[in-house]
Amino acid sequence: MTLRTGTGTGTGTGTGTAAGRTPGDVVVVGGSLAGLLAAAALAAPGRTVTVVERDVVADAPTPRPGVPQGRQPHALLYRSLVAVEELLPGFGDDLRAAGGVPVDTGALAWLGELGWSPRAEQFPVLSASRPLIDHVVRTRVRGLPGVRTVDGARVTGLRRDGAGGPRWSVVLEGRDVLPADLVVDASGRASRLPVWLDALGVPAAAVEQVDARIGYATRTLRLPVDAVGPAGVVIAQLPHEPGGIALPVEGGRWLVTAAGAGDRRPPRDPDAWRAFLGALRDPALAELVDAGELEGDVVVHRQTANVRHRYDRVPGWPGGLVVVGDALCAFDPVYGQGVAVAALEALELRDAARRDDLTTPRGARGFLRRAVRVGALPWAIATGEDLRLPTSEGRVPRVTALASAWTRELARLGTHGDTVAHTALAAVYHLMASPLTVYRPSLVARVLRARLRGYGPPVARPQVVRGATREAADVPPPGARP
Ligand SMILES: Cc1cc2nc3c(=O)[nH]c(=O)nc-3n(C[C@H](O)[C@H](O)[C@H](O)COP(=O)(O)OP(=O)(O)OC[C@H]3O[C@@H](n4cnc5c(N)ncnc54)[C@H](O)[C@@H]3O)c2cc1C
Repeated sequence: MTLRTGTGTGTGTGTGTAAGRTPGDVVVVGGSLAGLLAAAALAAPGRTVTVVERDVVADAPTPRPGVPQGRQPHALLYRSLVAVEELLPGFGDDLRAAGGVPVDTGALAWLGELGWSPRAEQFPVLSASRPLIDHVVRTRVRGLPGVRTVDGARVTGLRRDGAGGPRWSVVLEGRDVLPADLVVDASGRASRLPVWLDALGVPAAAVEQVDARIGYATRTLRLPVDAVGPAGVVIAQLPHEPGGIALPVEGGRWLVTAAGAGDRRPPRDPDAWRAFLGALRDPALAELVDAGELEGDVVVHRQTANVRHRYDRVPGWPGGLVVVGDALCAFDPVYGQGVAVAALEALELRDAARRDDLTTPRGARGFLRRAVRVGALPWAIATGEDLRLPTSEGRVPRVTALASAWTRELARLGTHGDTVAHTALAAVYHLMASPLTVYRPSLVARVLRARLRGYGPPVARPQVVRGATREAADVPPPGARP
């Protein structure tokens, strides 16, 4: 086993100024985004935080086997940038300096169910490849006082130890053991925690799942950002229509993704992939691909189910054990929520460790309850939308169906140029506003006015590739009301 360790120099800016009520040593299982952000949240004077990662992680932005989704595009919701910035002040500057591309979310060419979205200043996000995001976060976290990373070490189980010493032994492959007062499972979708808990006699947690059987197929495109009109392109996937996305990343490249569900999942074969893009309900992504130079293979990913483990409801939950990130709740990635939720959970963890003693069953359960609450809105959005797909099993809950009917009304205004309605929806989507804000009286008035006086002309199709001769009028906006 290759053990690569790195310890913080103590020069970084941590968020923890005091360890608070949670004492002792922490072991984080999994050194991807959720694990690293949890380590940032728990770094505090007097506490050691050891992040154990089964991959050997390069000191450069490189895809790795433990994060297979890393070759797929990772859009950061604005809320994720705000939350990571709070955990690691200066993160945005670091990512930009490393090549992250500034994108105004209102400047994306976005074809939704009812037509194109209007252009309007919205949220300033950064677009970068997942390996670059991880590299920047990891570099910062390794500089925090008391944080140590141990790479090339796979955790194979947990042992509960007796009173008096640390509560847990984290067992590594090869039989090494790390003692811990607090264990944070951040080992992602493939977490083995259910098996480890079973071996300890802890009752199984209920698992909630909605799987629309979405597949991604992505290729890298070399194309200068200024050759493209909009900041990025989204052809939203609909219940019966596949979609896709193109986002600029560092190094003058774009990630172009086709997405579909069930037997309409996109193919791995390069020619079939190009044909798939050309057959979408708008050919914007195919135009982009034809204007640039494709690199590498088509990379396919199909593990996209919404899965939530209800550890918060397990009777007799042990003290000193918490779960974050995809290991707790994983989302259909189409909605771009996973990193934001991991970062929000990390902020909850920071506050919980200061306020409560997480080494007690009560403290650990309290955190799990709050973590599930943090993910509740994203879960409702992702599962509510996915249940509309014929590839999912289950029915859309009535309250979700009513909420979607109202957001469709606002979306319809947006596709007819109403930037206020469009921005209100975007604020909820980026987790920057309560879902209740879309019911404010001024928005209700806008819907009523449009219904009475008409919606006005639909937003025109944006020109995607600069200099292309294609006329906007070629493509009628789908679903546009007369
Ligand atoms: C196709 C796809 C696209 C996505 N796009 C977006 C997006 O646009 N925006 C967004 O916000 N989110 C997106 N996500 C979600 C995002 O990838 C995750 O939410 C995010 O990576 C947080 O995951 P994590 O750290 O919990 O787990 P992971 O990133 O899966 O990492 C788990 C880590 O644990 C390690 N590990 C596992 N088992 C062990 C063990 N036994 N011992 C030691 N280490 C172990 C693994 O090697 C890995 O490093 C996407 C996901 C997918 C699948």
